Amino acid sequence: MPATLQDGLFRLCACALQKEGAIPSMVDKKTFEAFRERRFIETVRHAYAKSRFYRTAFDRCGLTPQDIRGIKDLSKIPFTTAQDLAGANYEFLCISQGNVEKPVTYFSSGTTGLQKRLYFSQADIREIQNFLAVGMRTVADPGETIQILLPNSSGRGIGTILGTALQQNSMHAVVTDVFESSARQIEYTRRHKPSVWFGDAGVIYRITKEMEHATDLSRLGVRVLFLTMGYVADAMRTNLETIWGCRVLTHYGLTETGWGLAVECPAMHGYHYNEFGVITEVIDPETGEPLPEGMEGELVFTTIGREAMPLLRYRSRDIAWLRSAPCACGCTLDAIGPVAKRQEAVALLPNGTEVYPTMFADTLYSFENVVDYDICLHKKPDGPVLIFQVETTGETNSAMLRDALEALPCIQQGKAEIQVETLPLGALKATCLRKKLIREVI
Ligand SMILES: [Zn+2]
Repeated sequence: MPATLQDGLFRLCACALQKEGAIPSMVDKKTFEAFRERRFIETVRHAYAKSRFYRTAFDRCGLTPQDIRGIKDLSKIPFTTAQDLAGANYEFLCISQGNVEKPVTYFSSGTTGLQKRLYFSQADIREIQNFLAVGMRTVADPGETIQILLPNSSGRGIGTILGTALQQNSMHAVVTDVFESSARQIEYTRRHKPSVWFGDAGVIYRITKEMEHATDLSRLGVRVLFLTMGYVADAMRTNLETIWGCRVLTHYGLTETGWGLAVECPAMHGYHYNEFGVITEVIDPETGEPLPEGMEGELVFTTIGREAMPLLRYRSRDIAWLRSAPCACGCTLDAIGPVAKRQEAVALLPNGTEVYPTMFADTLYSFENVVDYDICLHKKPDGPVLIFQVETTGETNSAMLRDALEALPCIQQGKAEIQVETLPLGALKATCLRKKLIREVI
């Protein structure tokens, strides 16, 4: 039986307490919360003592670590933004450069295109791996094989980090690279007989669409498609469930939180997250004020227990709600809503109507030939035009796609003209790992 996320997090807490010499008979919610409070306070002190960025940020607003006595004081701490990360070199680093196990440099996929650098120590990577294994145990049993379809450049990427984590926790991993051909991915599956596929939602959907007619995917023995790195529209989920004859579950995470963060709750439309290593808040993106429970706003993350580069109140620019426990699934963890809207991906039409790519996902993926899409906005003097490039597996009537898109409320309200250009299979493959945006063209 797969384990719940709560069981896994409480187990991580028990291990941490044992390392400190305490022998907890059982970790319950109260013990877990107390440990988390302590971890948070220690993280704040560590960040202030060792990171130039946080020392300056605290000093600038007259704050000392002693003013932070618990998570209730979190909102006193100034935010950390993507711009802060992009402008920094070693200002966030809390350990010597020689003790960095893994530096990660990446570009945010948004309009800003900021280059950000994160540092992880060996202990950080171990802790990240512990959580990744806990997350995977929510869908897989010990002894099962998981095929990992993630970027894995030179065998040093997140694919390998996850694969090692699973091997260390009695699961088997087959790490394949996302850029291998769809036929090769299926070959790996036939050879290694994984029961779970874990990987980028767009990549797995592309492989599915490329292979569904050549192979009966429902006979490969995969019982869960565990999708990450993207919003999964209901239509995409239904198509995958039908074609593979298996469950589809989703994951939400970001590099800044150590890749892994949250796994889908079996009982509701949302996620439970790694409360052992992260504290989540939701704020009003305009004012920065914390929002009441259940209201949609910007997710803000504080990583706790990190050695090399803790992040305090990091503004993710992802929009979702946060609800406190308990949940309908029976666990006592908080829940995060699905992240459909990313601030970086929002485009404004001239009359103020907001549009962003996931608004169109359900409509487009309800056409069975559609594999992927890209959107541009052209603000012409006589009105806005949204240009959809839609990759398909074969003949798709672009007029039907256009009519379906034109009927959407956001298009009616924004008085936008729709143009659809269909592209042959493979046309958008090179950009499929980028998060979707609406690019403005002139
Ligand atoms: Zn739940």
